[in-house]
Amino acid sequence: MNEYDSNRILDLTKKINYTLTKNIKEADCYVLNTCHIREKATDKVYHEVGRVKKEFRYRKKPIVLIAGCVAQAEGDILLQKEKYIDSVVGPQSYHEINKIILATENKNTRINSTEFEVIEKFDQLNLVKNSNNKVSSFLTIQEGCDKFCKFCVVPYTRGPEYSRPFSEIISEAKQLADNGSREIILLGQNVNAYNFKKQRLSDLLYSLSEIKSLKRIRYTTSHPKDFTHDLIEAHEKCKKLMPLLHLPVQSGSTKILQNMNRGHTIEEYLEIIDKLKKKKPSIKFSSDFIIAYPDETKNDFEKTISLMKQIEFINSYSFIFSARPGTPSANLEKIDNKIAKERLTIFQRTADEVKKRYRKGIVNSTVNVLFENKSKDENKYFGRDEYFNSVIVSSNEDLTGEIRKVKIDKCNQNTLFGEVILEDKPKEYAA
Ligand code: SF4
Repeated sequence: MNEYDSNRILDLTKKINYTLTKNIKEADCYVLNTCHIREKATDKVYHEVGRVKKEFRYRKKPIVLIAGCVAQAEGDILLQKEKYIDSVVGPQSYHEINKIILATENKNTRINSTEFEVIEKFDQLNLVKNSNNKVSSFLTIQEGCDKFCKFCVVPYTRGPEYSRPFSEIISEAKQLADNGSREIILLGQNVNAYNFKKQRLSDLLYSLSEIKSLKRIRYTTSHPKDFTHDLIEAHEKCKKLMPLLHLPVQSGSTKILQNMNRGHTIEEYLEIIDKLKKKKPSIKFSSDFIIAYPDETKNDFEKTISLMKQIEFINSYSFIFSARPGTPSANLEKIDNKIAKERLTIFQRTADEVKKRYRKGIVNSTVNVLFENKSKDENKYFGRDEYFNSVIVSSNEDLTGEIRKVKIDKCNQNTLFGEVILEDKPKEYAA
């Protein structure tokens, strides 16, 4: 979501004649868009500001703005501790960024703009065309969260759940498709909680499918609690919806899920997976895991390992529990660090084995790849298959924006390598 927000910040600032520079030395204004989900986020801000300070030691200081969730959570402290920072702007107030920049330019004031003005934000953003012209683009449809998982800062930094009006999303998707996007990834902290005047995520998926030049749709991040029947059915009926679902589970133990306030049991999670597989047999899953959450016993941990083996998640993101200040689990007694590290190692080894097995199975098969760009070296093109795996091929033809069948010859942990099959263009491409 920060990538989407950063692009929109750029679109906004163009209105006051700012443009993007890739050379930091040329910058008149430096915006650092931050994430607060992991530990040490604030330290990283000070570190990055230190780097800018050093770069501009003998030059005119640029305006330095801190945006995003660290600004939201720790704005006053940042301004107090680091005088080099001019202003802070939270994720729900960044539509104010031009006012903030102009005020800083003119009056040298320091502003803390961290109100939850989400409706006003999108009203303002709708007035500015989304100029993103990537083949695969993000599109925020929902923000905030009312779930209050005990470990998570999002409800405090992004605020309550808010769904953008249906017609605004369709109109922005059409802009992106007109700009050249062939894939849209719908974003929300709880994307499947989307509900605008009873129109759900499934309704959006069907309507977006009607945009002819749009070939692929994905969404992230969903919550098991909001996985309704209509959405499960959309995975069968909506042909442009890709067959990879990121469905965070966090733990394989119902006891731990309850301690986390996740609002569902492991049986309910498995039931969703089962229903999805019945509707869409080719579907695969990825997930997030928190290892060594307070009170996680060996038995709870083994349930997480079993779940990984049972579902065979093709990608997983796992971290040792890290206490976020201000969240209910921040004061719980932590699991011994040595045990936590051991469990993470065991979990990641299991996840790697599952992934390796899956990727080995792809070698010598044919996959449909949407090509996103040419890489810097030689005539190599980068794209993704339907399961979001990175694929690299050599080609003399410009493949950007095209979907082609690719025969996979080899793979490593992160990338598949192959050759475009020339004659046979996939149906998806012909649509
Ligand atoms: S549902 Fe997701 S965003 Fe919401 S509190 Fe839980 S982990 Fe955080």
